[in-house]
Amino acid sequence: MTIEDFKYDHPDRDVAAFKRAVANKLIYAVGKDPVAASQDDWLHATALAVRDQLVERWMSTTRAQYAQRLKRTYYLSMEFLIGRTFTNALLALELYDTVKHALADFGVDMEQVAEREPDAALGNGGLGRLAACFLDSMATLGVPGLGYGIRYEYGMFRQNIVDGQQVETPDYWLTRGNPWEFARPEVRFRVRFGGHVQKREGKGVPYGAARWVDTHDVLAVAYDTIIPGYGTQATNTLRLWSARATEEIDLSAFNRGQYMDAVESKNHSENVSRVLYPDDSTPSGRELRLHQEYFFVSASVQDMLHRYLRNHDDFDALPEQISIHLNDTHPVLAVPELMRLLIDEHDLPWDTAWGHTQKIFSYTNHTLMHEALETWPVEMFGRILPRHLQIVFDLNARFLAGITQKHGHDAELMRRLSLIDENGERRVRMAYVAVLASHSINGVSELHSELMKQSIFADFARLFPERFNNKTNGVTPRRWLAQANPPLAKLLDQRIGRGWRRDLDQLVALRPMAQQPAFVRAFRHAKRENKLRLCNWIEQHMGLTVDTDAMFDVQVKRIHEYKRQLLNVLHVVTRYLRILDEPEGNHVPRVVVFAGKAASAYQMAKLVIRLINDVAAVINNDDRANKLLKVVFVPNYSVSLAELIIPAADLSEQISTAGTEASGTGNMKFAINGALTIGTLDGANVEMRDAVGPENFFIFGNTTEQVADIRASGYRPADYYEANLELQRALDAIRDGMFSHGETARYHAIFDALVNWGDHYQLLADYASYIETQERVDALYRDPDAWARMAILNVAGMGKFSSDRTIAEYAHDIWKTKPVSLG
Ligand SMILES: *Cc1c(COP(=O)(O)O)cnc(C)c1O
Repeated sequence: MTIEDFKYDHPDRDVAAFKRAVANKLIYAVGKDPVAASQDDWLHATALAVRDQLVERWMSTTRAQYAQRLKRTYYLSMEFLIGRTFTNALLALELYDTVKHALADFGVDMEQVAEREPDAALGNGGLGRLAACFLDSMATLGVPGLGYGIRYEYGMFRQNIVDGQQVETPDYWLTRGNPWEFARPEVRFRVRFGGHVQKREGKGVPYGAARWVDTHDVLAVAYDTIIPGYGTQATNTLRLWSARATEEIDLSAFNRGQYMDAVESKNHSENVSRVLYPDDSTPSGRELRLHQEYFFVSASVQDMLHRYLRNHDDFDALPEQISIHLNDTHPVLAVPELMRLLIDEHDLPWDTAWGHTQKIFSYTNHTLMHEALETWPVEMFGRILPRHLQIVFDLNARFLAGITQKHGHDAELMRRLSLIDENGERRVRMAYVAVLASHSINGVSELHSELMKQSIFADFARLFPERFNNKTNGVTPRRWLAQANPPLAKLLDQRIGRGWRRDLDQLVALRPMAQQPAFVRAFRHAKRENKLRLCNWIEQHMGLTVDTDAMFDVQVKRIHEYKRQLLNVLHVVTRYLRILDEPEGNHVPRVVVFAGKAASAYQMAKLVIRLINDVAAVINNDDRANKLLKVVFVPNYSVSLAELIIPAADLSEQISTAGTEASGTGNMKFAINGALTIGTLDGANVEMRDAVGPENFFIFGNTTEQVADIRASGYRPADYYEANLELQRALDAIRDGMFSHGETARYHAIFDALVNWGDHYQLLADYASYIETQERVDALYRDPDAWARMAILNVAGMGKFSSDRTIAEYAHDIWKTKPVSLG
């Protein structure tokens, strides 16, 4: 065959062609008669037709990357919190109206069909969503690369609220198949576990090379998803690995008639990619998690080397051809895995392999919280990955020997720098392995990057100051403005053009419009439409009526003590008690919206969810107050719910204890959608305040420094409780059963955690400032035009917080990659 003989139908983009394409997919791919087709069948057929539109772009991008011999960036992440793909793909392809009309001709409502798509929830929260925004920006900027992760069969658990409490059920998102992915059963790599290590010796064998034998093996099989760029033909790829047993079944057991035993080991192997761990800021000592981490990085690194070797004969150009980025420490095993492959399988000398490794790797830190820093017991590590433990020990020995040579023998310094934590049970410090192996280590906001150098990596920052830098997070304006907020997007298109989708700095053109009454009116109208959309959803799904004129005061994010949902609850209770005191007072009506999941083992976070629901039940059913205050806990927070809730917010709650939230990205989504922020000087809030002007931002509470001083000088929360009568009343109400039908024991743990057990996150220290600032928020809301003017100035100042800016910085400063050029 010659390439000229190879003919296929280019998919056309008009309504008639699209109808034809959907009809063909429904009949031939889904196999359904249109008279019997369900909404899900229509979704599946349409998604396949839309995917066809992406394939040519995808292939020409890949072809151009090869032809131009471009360096590729491999973004390794345990989590990709993608959400839905359908509407996103339509907007990227500018096919939204076409497809809507095509489906309408079949009597199918596209928006209803789109709602049927399950979220790809392969992540917990901010870290996973950041990875998804980055894929979108890499595609849009033409940064050559791939995202690598795990194709979990069960994503983030579904959260049901039963009697006010979180109940988790599995999220089997693949029930109806996934029309977006291409299974690549032929792209498979063997991933090994356990066994033991033998020395290799002989001619041409590098010093220290080893053979890893008697292993239990699992196969990693690739599934590819196309990530479309916006306003470009360029695409990106998300390659997710799924575990397969090396032998389908145990033949000897099968032969003996022991059928269940025969498939058991298969099931066991395939468990590796079964389920996402529902923790992002608690330590996880589970062996399966270590298996997962190694499983996906081993397959990914093998895949990269395989791709590299297709057009190279040696490894000399490896650092000029690939970068590997570690999204937090979860993929750090890629470091010893690359070393192992280069030394043991490709016979490179240690020093050459290590030189390459340090040029190839870069690492993003996402948390300073000690309990969230990943370490693995040496015993477990060595049992599962004996060769990698050897490599880590060797790295450590060489590193510490070098330090001794330079700084003399300093046992205390060694103890602090060692890759192995020798206090108590010996553990491998994964973050230190990342720092030692990476030429770039970045934090995710200016504040966080500074604190990172002063705290967890202080010794390393002194040794290698040039490696440390900041890359403030961002979010993609395609999903978080164009897709999530059609009314505002339309208004922006009319007034400043469509260019903001690719260049968010263009929002600055809104600044003068804050003074134009017609624009202020239109802006308020857009917000009102979004609030109505959320009201309808709440009414339909929760049977609750809320008032669109009330201020929508919103805190949606993982439930965690450091994020301080409880401080918000203290404000709600204070407000409720004030309304009861003064029913005729001049109160600003509010709807306080919460959403978020608690890690399944995190009892305190689960108790907070219960309290929010209990408080909601009491207030919403109290006719003395419920015209002025409602509390809504929206169950099962997800990307799709974020897209619904965030554009409807008037007030964004970003109230973590200063110094604890590395960046936050929820904060950015809200401000871009025209909410005002009440927040602490934490994470990216600091830079957002600078960008939009401090006069347009409600900052409250102690600074990072003050928090540290209070902690150092012996914080006594009971003093705050004694001194502030309103705080005391709110806390007593919770303790004494106002929200638990008089069952006083229910919330004693919360009361005690705050008042008697040290209030680790200093809620009581910030309470007065928070309440006082909420009063200033109320005062502004009384003047709706003044509120809207300030909200417009927030949107106008948010250009910096596009993930396109973030990715351009990564590409330029860290990865040193050039964009693909498509003729
Ligand atoms: C953006 C996002 C987050 C992160 O929110 P933070 O407020 O930064 O913690 C978590 N979950 C979902 C679904 C998101 O879209």
